[in-house]
Amino acid sequence: MPFIPLRPLLDHAAANGYGVCALNVNNMEQIQSIMEAARATKSPVIVQASRGARKYTNDIFLRNLMQAAAELYPEIPFVMHQDHGNAPDTCISAIRMGFTSVMMDGSLEEDAKTPAGYEYNVAVTREVVNIAHRFGVSVEGELGCLGSLEHGTGEKEDGHGAEGKLTMDQLLTDPDQAVDFVKRTGIDALAVAMGTSHGAYKFSKKPTGDVLAMGTIEAIHKKIPNCHLVMHGSSSVPKNLIDEINKYGGKIKETYGVPVEEIQRGIRAGVRKINVDTDNRLAITASIRKSMTEKPEEFDPRYYLTPSRLAMQKICEERMRQFGQAGHAPSVPVVTLDQMAKDYAAGKYGENAKPTNDAAQHKGKGTGKAMAH
Ligand SMILES: [Zn+2]
Repeated sequence: MPFIPLRPLLDHAAANGYGVCALNVNNMEQIQSIMEAARATKSPVIVQASRGARKYTNDIFLRNLMQAAAELYPEIPFVMHQDHGNAPDTCISAIRMGFTSVMMDGSLEEDAKTPAGYEYNVAVTREVVNIAHRFGVSVEGELGCLGSLEHGTGEKEDGHGAEGKLTMDQLLTDPDQAVDFVKRTGIDALAVAMGTSHGAYKFSKKPTGDVLAMGTIEAIHKKIPNCHLVMHGSSSVPKNLIDEINKYGGKIKETYGVPVEEIQRGIRAGVRKINVDTDNRLAITASIRKSMTEKPEEFDPRYYLTPSRLAMQKICEERMRQFGQAGHAPSVPVVTLDQMAKDYAAGKYGENAKPTNDAAQHKGKGTGKAMAH
């Protein structure tokens, strides 16, 4: 199956009431885990690469891993997504590499750590939409800064994340501003800030409504029911994996993730893309630690990578079933980038999603000030 853009997959997910996990790839074993899980559960997949992954793996290696996956698993609808683009140039280079979907994260400035001003966010996101939609590539934007409502700070992932104390205004996406943002940018999906953060240390106890603001998602969905919502930092951080890592010499402090039932609640309120990475990292590490401890005389990497690949596959399968994407691979429409480009230009996805030239004059760097609402 050719790569498909994100938009038609999320449209299909919305029409059928399911969510799709977006899984990060940095090496061959991880993409193998994802594709085996997709085949076993008949799931469409969103495979994403952060800037850190593109640097670690190298763009050419990464593109060819993705192409190998599409070739070897022709029955799986496959979205290749840039995670957290920090600037239009990052998104443009991803489009040139063959990505079918990009995230322009203008909630932070180009340094990927300073919270950006609202007008800056609108302008850079619109700039990317204008370019991406001409190629039929989908765009995810972000409004509000991801970070903990418990201690008011962001968590870096692959060098990307807010620095310093964030205010409540920044940590929770404002539903009215979301309406304005989606209208002015023409994005296909919106990442919202509602208490999730990247990494393993999300919550100090099982999260309640005051630190995981699912109500924010529901309020936004009510106002913009036709915009697909995205939950970042949505690993569940299973206790058994933390225990396993620590049992075999690891040192992970007590921590809690986003409970799967909260994500399912989000899916009922318009969440269609759910970013999960930490759970896979934990599964791989737990398995490798166990293998190495049990047979310290082994030194063939295949000895410990084979079970770790299976461990990640198991987590992926679990999430695919829990989010409801399992079984849907055969019915997702195959839309080419060329067709999408024509559809955007013809206004099939609304007037706002049509590419225009009017925002191209913006080349500003942002004010560095917090959002003013
Ligand atoms: Zn993220």
